[in-house]
Amino acid sequence: MKYFSTRGDRSGLTAAEAIKRGIAPDGGLYMPESLPEISREFLQSLCPMSYAERAASVLAMFLDDYGYDTLLELCKKAYAKTSFGDHAAPVVELDGIRNVLELWHGPTSAFKDMALQIMPLLLSKALELTHETNTVCILVATSGDTGKAALEGYKNVDHTKIIVFYPENGVSNVQKRQMQTQEGDNVAVTAIRGNFDDAQNGVKRIFADSAFREKLAKENVILSSANSINWGRLVPQIVYYISAYCDLVNAGRLTFGDTLNICVPTGNFGNIFAAYLAKRMGLPLGKLVCASNQNNILTDFFNTGVYDRNRAFHLSMSPSMDILISSNLERLLYVVAGSEKTAIWMKQLNETGRYEVDAETLNILQTEFCGYYCNETDTQKTIRHYFDTYHYLADTHTAVGLYCADRYLADTGDTTAMLTASTASPYKFASNVLRSVSETCPEDEFDALDALSQTTKTDIPAPLACLRTKEPRFTGVIDKEEMEDRVYGFIRQ
Ligand SMILES: *Cc1c(COP(=O)(O)O)cnc(C)c1O
Repeated sequence: MKYFSTRGDRSGLTAAEAIKRGIAPDGGLYMPESLPEISREFLQSLCPMSYAERAASVLAMFLDDYGYDTLLELCKKAYAKTSFGDHAAPVVELDGIRNVLELWHGPTSAFKDMALQIMPLLLSKALELTHETNTVCILVATSGDTGKAALEGYKNVDHTKIIVFYPENGVSNVQKRQMQTQEGDNVAVTAIRGNFDDAQNGVKRIFADSAFREKLAKENVILSSANSINWGRLVPQIVYYISAYCDLVNAGRLTFGDTLNICVPTGNFGNIFAAYLAKRMGLPLGKLVCASNQNNILTDFFNTGVYDRNRAFHLSMSPSMDILISSNLERLLYVVAGSEKTAIWMKQLNETGRYEVDAETLNILQTEFCGYYCNETDTQKTIRHYFDTYHYLADTHTAVGLYCADRYLADTGDTTAMLTASTASPYKFASNVLRSVSETCPEDEFDALDALSQTTKTDIPAPLACLRTKEPRFTGVIDKEEMEDRVYGFIRQ
């Protein structure tokens, strides 16, 4: 299968090459030339399988140059019990309609692990398949969870290095400590003065700087990304929607062939786009509810067809969704409207911060998606409501999803089963979760972990429980203009 850029570059790469490169030379994102089909038989055959086997079967359709046996080996390693427990992505039933897909049972307690435990292995294999002799340096901009998950995924992986940039005041204390204490010989972490978009644009600029790339080439280093712009990051996310469907069938919650609606708390649009791809491939999915926090640029987009980032940026209690440029939306535009229009809209976005899709495109988008958003007060009320009603403890991001799913159900009266993606353990955002279910909350975020555990009678995930006493390793803060120098210093050290 060949991969092409969303902006029209027609070079046609293998999957391994696309994963190695990350972003296309014209600034676009890689997409497969066509989408493989999920037939009834194929779906049925997945139902009795383990998560790793389901993952290998789905990945093999896209990454045909890897081969099924190789992929199975990699998936078994990535989704091992030691990292993810008994099921990598279990579905929890709340009531007759509502279900939650928990995507945070990996080593960093956030959904990014689902992709970032396998992606480094896919990249390592890609280097082998393309006879690459250089070291790959992974550049990551993170609003919190991606950074830690990427660091954990890449640490000590042969022929790779990883450097992570995060907005100094745009991540929680626990997230910061997770990154600052990262272990591994091939890792670096640096804070940026600015917000997530500053960090992400800085990384994009470095990728686009050909002189800098030449400078790195002299050191036998090539750059690649772990952000969800990389196809190797996106494709494993298709798996858990298919897997969840199988689990719902196995549990008798769905009859094979029934439609399932999906609601996803969204930031960069990677997670929900994976659901859309699963639907396009033939998984019986219905509406895709795009859930945003106060940074509701996507809600407006699905309602009006106008994407306009000229607006205030809010820091919220769901920081992984505090995003004004949802990179993977470009892939959706490409699938729906083609590369010519996509290239024009992306150029407009770059130059004016705004674009408007045509009526035909908007019409297609609105039949597949609908957008809702949830403010800060409703986020906390939702955490409280779900804990009181279902004894289900949701994190702040998941709460945004649950609220938007409820709004959708109330507005439409739709009685189709709904699956809301739960994207982080409540313990990753313990203070805000605790404040939602309790009158008091300790000042210190680490004390809040203990208090949340006592109040809700739930357990702190092990990797978070031991953070408090761990010594920070990476405490540097730089301006966004210094990012290139930081990368160069790191690869030479
Ligand atoms: C990354 C992240 C999101 C947003 O996912 P996208 O794929 O960027 O839309 C939501 N919640 C949490 C906890 C995350 O880490």
